[in-house]
Amino acid sequence: MSGEFLARTGPDAPGLRVVSAEGCWITAGDGRRYLDWLAGIGVCNLGHRHPAVLTAARAQEAKHLHVMVYGEYAQAAQETFAGRLAGLAPFPDARVYFTSSGAEAVEGALKLARKATGRPRFAAFDGAYHGSTFGAFSLMGPAAMRAPYAPLLDVLHLPFGDAAELERIDRTVAAVVVEPIQAEAGVRVPPPGFLTALRKRCDATGALLVFDEVQTGLGRTGTLWAGESVAPDVLVLAKALGGGYPLGAFLAPARLMAALADGPPLTHLTTFGGHPVSCAAGLASLEVTLAQDLPARARHAGGEIMAALSSRIDRGGITAVRGRGLLIGVELESVERARAIVSRCLASGLLIGQALHDERVLRLTPPLTLADADLRIGLERLVSTLT
Ligand code: PMP
Repeated sequence: MSGEFLARTGPDAPGLRVVSAEGCWITAGDGRRYLDWLAGIGVCNLGHRHPAVLTAARAQEAKHLHVMVYGEYAQAAQETFAGRLAGLAPFPDARVYFTSSGAEAVEGALKLARKATGRPRFAAFDGAYHGSTFGAFSLMGPAAMRAPYAPLLDVLHLPFGDAAELERIDRTVAAVVVEPIQAEAGVRVPPPGFLTALRKRCDATGALLVFDEVQTGLGRTGTLWAGESVAPDVLVLAKALGGGYPLGAFLAPARLMAALADGPPLTHLTTFGGHPVSCAAGLASLEVTLAQDLPARARHAGGEIMAALSSRIDRGGITAVRGRGLLIGVELESVERARAIVSRCLASGLLIGQALHDERVLRLTPPLTLADADLRIGLERLVSTLT
């Protein structure tokens, strides 16, 4: 069987033919086992096929799969997970709207902001990635990627990390959407105080602050949320949320979320959002994340990886090592060098990638359950390709 009937939107052939996956390892069609330091771009925080996730999914499958469009019938899997998430949200009295993907959750956040404020514009940051649907794509950082799809939503694009430029956010802006740590931009951590300054500017202008924690959330950066002490008005989640099943969500305080409920009602709907199996699996994944303190594991393992690689800056073509927890970017001197390292790692049995918007940057996003032995194997393989 070949993949010729699958539509492709990029130039490269698939890197791997997957046969099965377990824990931090993927078995491929060539019979080899590959150490997975991508985890589906930060989806598989518990590794592949975690027993708690499988048990929860099977228990839900034994009860029911899809039964009705989101919100029409009461489904315990959605209600229980929403309650757990609301209790952990970075603001009080949270309500959860489940979607099927990150982009769909961003769309919901944009529509909520437009409806709640009545304002026409949005703001986002250079380097941003928020999804591929029209609204989310309007927020996309690189202008060259947006150009073929114009006209898009009216978005003010600001430099990431520059507090002075936040003055340009005005009362025409419904919402500012930001990744607390930009992932596809090449793992860019903002300078201290930037998110606080952004919060202040949003308060001053009445723009809603939307944190897109699709890639950073649920423990990956060493804390449950990467926004830490700054509270957004809307929190967007996906990727790891479903424990390996498709699931996204946007969360907002009840008084804000109420804007979607009337004037007129039923203007924001989804068929598959909050699929019961995804919700059951997601809840199980979250419970393991909390019970095993995987954010702490991410801090510890990420600290070791970053320290080992930072000590090699200016050797092997490494120019910078950035990140927090297990969201790590390793900047090399050129795109060609980064591409060569990724394919050498593949040959040595280690799966890593490049950031979408800065291909000089190697992307390391292993499962948060990464055992010490797998940490050492990965580091050895990576470092040996850098010499
Ligand atoms: N936001 C961020 C920060 C992302 O990294 C992504 C996906 N890479 C998305 C949104 C979109 O998520 P999805 O692909 O599930 O639509």
